[in-house]
Amino acid sequence: MSKDKILIIGGGVTGLTCAIELEKKGYSPVIVDANNEVGGRLYSELIDGFVLDKGFQVLLTAYPAVKEYLDVSALDLNYFSPGAAIFKQASVNVFGDPVRNTSFLLPLLRFPHASLADKFKVWRLSNQLKRESLEQIFEKPATSTLAYLRKKGFSEQVIECFFRPFYAGIFLEKELNTSSRMFEFVFKMFAEGYATVPAAGIQQIALQLKGALSRTTFKLGQPVQSVEDNHVVLDDGTRLDFDKLIMATNHGDDLQEKDSSAWQACWNLYFETDELHLDPRLIGLNANGSGLINNFSFMLSDSGSIGISVTVVQDYLGESTELASLIEEELWTVYGINAKRLIKAYHIPYALPKHEDCTYLPSIEDMQQSSNVIVCGDSLANSSLNAAMLSGALAAKLV
Ligand SMILES: Cc1cc2nc3c(=O)[nH]c(=O)nc-3n(C[C@H](O)[C@H](O)[C@H](O)COP(=O)(O)OP(=O)(O)OC[C@H]3O[C@@H](n4cnc5c(N)ncnc54)[C@H](O)[C@@H]3O)c2cc1C
Repeated sequence: MSKDKILIIGGGVTGLTCAIELEKKGYSPVIVDANNEVGGRLYSELIDGFVLDKGFQVLLTAYPAVKEYLDVSALDLNYFSPGAAIFKQASVNVFGDPVRNTSFLLPLLRFPHASLADKFKVWRLSNQLKRESLEQIFEKPATSTLAYLRKKGFSEQVIECFFRPFYAGIFLEKELNTSSRMFEFVFKMFAEGYATVPAAGIQQIALQLKGALSRTTFKLGQPVQSVEDNHVVLDDGTRLDFDKLIMATNHGDDLQEKDSSAWQACWNLYFETDELHLDPRLIGLNANGSGLINNFSFMLSDSGSIGISVTVVQDYLGESTELASLIEEELWTVYGINAKRLIKAYHIPYALPKHEDCTYLPSIEDMQQSSNVIVCGDSLANSSLNAAMLSGALAAKLV
C-alpha cells in the first residue's frame, strides 16, 4: 500500500523533528521552507572568524527532547558555568551553584545582593523542583513569574539583581509576566543540566536533525504562498500536492501575517573588543535597573580575537547603527568595555511567542486544524527548543 504524501511547511527544529518521527513510521515527507537552509530561528554565521548566532540562545542539556533527538557529543558543545556575573554599579559578583562548581562557594557566601534567606530559598527551590515531574509543574495554577517570586518570599533586592535580568534574557521581557510554569520549567532545567551552545553555532542543532533524515526531500528557498484543500502554491506558482499537511511555521494557518503583539522581540549585537572582562563561560547581567543592555557574554574568534555578544531585551525601533553607538557608549561608560568595532547587529522582531499562559505540550485540539492539516511549533505550548521538538514529534504521531 502506498503511503500518504506528507508535506511539512517549515524546516525549523519542529518540522525536522516531525520528519524524523514520520520516517520512523515509514513515510517519506517533503519539507518546504522559505529559507535557503534549515533551522528557522536557529541561524548562525561565521564573520571575521567569529561564530555569530542570530539571537543569544542556549540549549539546556536537561531538556527531555535533547536526550531523545540529539547526539550531544557530536554537537561539540561549549558549556556555560552554572552561574552568572552580576554587574551593579562598579561591582561584579558571581552568583552560582557551588554544588556543581565549588569555586562559586566563597563568592556565593559573599554575594551582596541576596540575603542568607534568599540563598537558602534558591537552594530549597532547586531541590523542590528537582523532585517534581514536568507534568506536576505544568499542572499547577499559573501566575506571572514576578508574582511567583514575591510569593516565594524572595527579597526585592535578589529579584532586581538576579532574577529579573537573568529571566528577562530568557523570556525576552523585563516585566516577568511570563507564566510561573515556564519559570519553574526553566529553573528545573538549569538545575538538572547545563546551558550550552554548539561550538560551531546554534544552527548546528538543526543541521544535526537534518542529518538524521534519509528519506525526506527538502525544497529550500521556496516560500509557500497559499494553502488550498489538497495542495500548496509556492511563490513561483509551483503546486505541491499533499494528503496530509503539517504546518510547522509558527504562524498558525495564516502564512502571510504574524501578529507582532503575540511575540517578544530583541536585538543581539556583536562587537570586537580588546580585553576579556569576564570568563566566556559566564553570562554577565545588568543589575543596574537602567540601560539598554540586559546581558552579555564574551567570545573568541578562531584566531583568538575577543568579541562580545550583547542582548537588548526590547524592540528598539531606530536604526541598527544608532543602537550600536548607544551600546558602545554604555559598554564603555558603565562597564569599562571598549567595543572597538561592530561586527553585526541582528534585530529579531519575532523571537519568542509570548507565554503568559503555557503548557508542556500543545493540545491535540489546537494541533488538529482539520482532517488533513496539523499545526505544531513552540507557540502552541511554551517558548523553548524542547517544546518545538516535542510538538513536531507529536504532530507526526497524529498523522
Ligand atoms: C533570540 C532567541 C532566543 C531564544 N532563546 C532560546 C533559549 O535560550 N532556549 C530555548 O530552548 N529556546 C530559545 N529560543 C526559542 C527557539 O529558538 C525556538 O523555540 C525554536 O527554534 C522554534 O523552532 P520552530 O521550528 O518551531 O520555529 P522556527 O524556527 O520559527 O521555524 C519556522 C520555519 O518556517 C518557515 N516558514 C514560515 N513561513 C513559511 C512559508 N510561508 N513558506 C515556507 N516556509 C515558511 C520559516 O522560514 C522557518 O524556517 C530562542 C529564540 C530566539 C529567536
